[in-house]
Amino acid sequence: MTGTVKVSLIVPCYNEQAALPVFYRETMKVLEGMDCAYEFIFVDDGSTDDTLSILRGFGGENEQVIYLSFSRNFGKEAAMYAGFSNASGDYVAVMDADMQDPPSLLPQMLEILRGGGYDSVATCRSTRQGEPKIRSWFAKRFYRIINKISDADIVDGARDFRLMRREMVQVIVSMGEYNRFSKGIFGWIGFRTYWLQYDNVERIAGETKWSFWRLFKYAVDGIINFSQVPLSIASWFGVLMTMCSFVILLVIIIRKLLMGDPVAGWASTMCVIIFIGGVQLFCLGIMGQYIAKTYMETKRRPHYIISESNKENIKVIE
Ligand code: UDP
Ligand code: MG
Repeated sequence: MTGTVKVSLIVPCYNEQAALPVFYRETMKVLEGMDCAYEFIFVDDGSTDDTLSILRGFGGENEQVIYLSFSRNFGKEAAMYAGFSNASGDYVAVMDADMQDPPSLLPQMLEILRGGGYDSVATCRSTRQGEPKIRSWFAKRFYRIINKISDADIVDGARDFRLMRREMVQVIVSMGEYNRFSKGIFGWIGFRTYWLQYDNVERIAGETKWSFWRLFKYAVDGIINFSQVPLSIASWFGVLMTMCSFVILLVIIIRKLLMGDPVAGWASTMCVIIFIGGVQLFCLGIMGQYIAKTYMETKRRPHYIISESNKENIKVIE
């Protein structure tokens, strides 16, 4: 340990027994070559495999390793929040345990921040190689939509891997919202960010925890958390339908006056009823999404519960 600055590495782990030893070894190698102090904050997100005992091992052999173990799986967002809340470094980074966030980038990232011109160094993948085509297609649409309809500036291909100054971390910790979408939070708070590109790296072991459906829900959450536009879509639909109905009303009245009362089509009536019913339910659904978020937010439930840690004076609930 040399140097005066300290870097905290936050590593959310969910069933990462296969990848963790490699991650730890490789990252230690990189850290030893860097002119700074460091700490690891491993967050075991309710793993059901041997992740926790591996982390106990790391903690036993290295004082610089802190581990927090959740009482159940709370999700990566909660794990990152726990990491941020407990990090003490001057610079703080979030890294995946599967080596998809190459530790070899750390020295360069620290160098850029020490240069003084930036508050954070973020990373994004230059290609989406190795990803299913359909997933890439949806991801692209998602980034285009969310950037159009929200203040959160989210870069396509951005990863959660970024090194930040203490000041920025402080702001993130102070944003205690229950529904967390870190990609949006990072973009929303602003600060000067340097973007570092690198080629996509495949996960070294284990498998991804993000099914297509889980990603889809994550995307919808992101939009609802950072934009009110879907709500106005609902009201615009309402305005449009009302205008249409006026026109249709006029047509019906005129037809009645001119031609008496010809037998009206049952099919067309059904179509209109079903269509309007569909639009109404859709709009109700959008509102329901916002109400559900508000509901969860007002309950003020903790983001996570820590059941075990090697750090003293830990805040068990936050
Ligand atoms: N992760 C977590 N909790 C979860 C899901 C994932 O802490 O509920 C961690 C996981 O262990 C990994 C990181 O988040 O370190 C990224 O997960 P993954 O590699 O599965 O996502 P992908 O890289 O495929 O987007
Ligand atoms: Mg991964």
